Amino acid sequence: MTRVAIVTGGTRGIGAAISKALKAAGHTVAASYAGNDEAAAKFKAETGIATYKWDVGDFDACAAGVAQVEKDLGPVDILVNNAGITRDGFFHKMSKDQWSAVIRTNLDSLFNMTRPVIEGMRNRGFGRVIVISSINGQKGQAGQVNYSAAKAGDIGFVKALALEGAAKGITANVIAPGYIGTEMVQAIDPKVLETRILPLIPTGRLGQPEEIARAVVFLSSDDSGYITGSTLSINGGQYLA
Ligand code: NDP
Repeated sequence: MTRVAIVTGGTRGIGAAISKALKAAGHTVAASYAGNDEAAAKFKAETGIATYKWDVGDFDACAAGVAQVEKDLGPVDILVNNAGITRDGFFHKMSKDQWSAVIRTNLDSLFNMTRPVIEGMRNRGFGRVIVISSINGQKGQAGQVNYSAAKAGDIGFVKALALEGAAKGITANVIAPGYIGTEMVQAIDPKVLETRILPLIPTGRLGQPEEIARAVVFLSSDDSGYITGSTLSINGGQYLA
C-alpha cells in the first residue's frame, strides 16, 4: 500500500538511502534536512523526492514542517527519525554546548517529530515509527557520552511508545546501526578506523546505507505489524556485552 513517509535527515547518508528505498517501495516521501541546501538540491534533482528544511531540535519548526508535508502530500503514516549529529569529546572536556546540541538533535527530536504525527496515526489506526539509534547507544563509546546517552534514550522512547500504540495499529521500532560508510564515519581519523574499529567488526567492513534502508522498508510495511518495541542491530556481527 502506498503511504506518506517523512525521513528526517533524509537527504544525505543513511537517510538518503532510506528515502530512496521507501520511494522504490511505492511510498510518497518527504525528506527533511537542516541546512545543507546544496546536498538537498542535488538529492531532489537526482531522485525527484520532495525536500523540506527545518531543525528537528525545534518543536514549533517540526510541527509547522509536518503540517506543510501533510498539506502537500497527505497524512503521514510512516515516520523515520533518522537525523543525528555527533559532537565528540571526552566527558571531562565536554562543554555544555556539545552535550546540549547532541541531546537536542538526537533525542528531543523524537518528541518534536513524533508528537505532531501520533494523533493522526491513532485516529487512522495505522502508524510506523522507526528510530535510527546506534550501536554506541547499546554499548557506550568513549568520547561519546552525549551521543551514547541520546541513542540509548531512543530505545526507551520506542519501548514506551510501542506499548501505547500497539492497540491502535502503530508500531515503533529502533534500528541500531554499527559503523556505516557515510560522511559521519568518514570524519573519523582513517588510522583509528583501520586499527581500532574495523578489527572489531566480524564482517571486516563498514556497512552500507542501503543495508539499513532495506530494514526500514520492511519495518514500515503492513507485513511488519507484529514487530513493535524491538531493537534491530545491524552492525556486521559486533558483540554487544
Ligand atoms: P549524515 O551526517 O551523513 O547525515 C545527517 C542528516 O541529518 C543530514 O541530512 C542532515 O541535514 C540531517 N540533520 C542533522 N542535524 C539536523 C537537524 N538539527 N535538523 C534536521 N536535520 C538534521 O549522518 P548519517 O547518515 O551517518 O547518520 C544518520 C543517522 O544514523 C544518525 O542518527 C546517526 O546518529 C545514525 N548512525 C549513523 C552511523 C554511521 O555509521 N554513519 C552509525 C550508527 C548510527 P543537512 O544535510 O542539512 O546537514
